[in-house]
Amino acid sequence: MKALKIDHLGIAVPSLADAVAAYETLGFAVETREEVPSEKVRVAFLPVGDSRLELLEPTEPGSPIGRFLQKRSGLHHVCVLVEDIDAALAELRARGVPLIDEVPRPGAGGSRVAFLHPRAAGGVLLELKQKGSAG
Ligand code: ZN
Repeated sequence: MKALKIDHLGIAVPSLADAVAAYETLGFAVETREEVPSEKVRVAFLPVGDSRLELLEPTEPGSPIGRFLQKRSGLHHVCVLVEDIDAALAELRARGVPLIDEVPRPGAGGSRVAFLHPRAAGGVLLELKQKGSAG
C-alpha cells in the first residue's frame, strides 16, 4: 500500500456551526463544506498546511457518526491518502487485515474512501482515500 500523506483528521461534533465557530476562534478557516449522503454527515474541511481537519456532524442520529457521538465526541478517524485504493484494499485483504469496507464508497470531494477496522490499527479507525477528479 502506497501511503502518500495524512489527508485529514476526522473530528465528530454534535453541531457543525458551533464547532466551526470554535475552530475559527482558534485561527482555522473553513475551506469547503459538503454533505456526504453515503455517510449521513455534513462536513467542513479546515486546512492545516498540506493536510486538513474534517469536522463531521451527523445528519441522522442512527448514522455511524451519530452513534459515535452518543458515547463521546472528538477525534473519530485518521485518513491516509493512498495512490490506488483498490490495490491497497486487495493487498490488505490478502494479508487478512480486518476491513469495514470491502469496496470503496463515495467520499467528500468526489473521492473514494474505505475504512479499516480499528483492531487493524491499535484501536484507531483508519480511513483510506483516493482523490477524485474534484481533488
Ligand atoms: Zn474522513
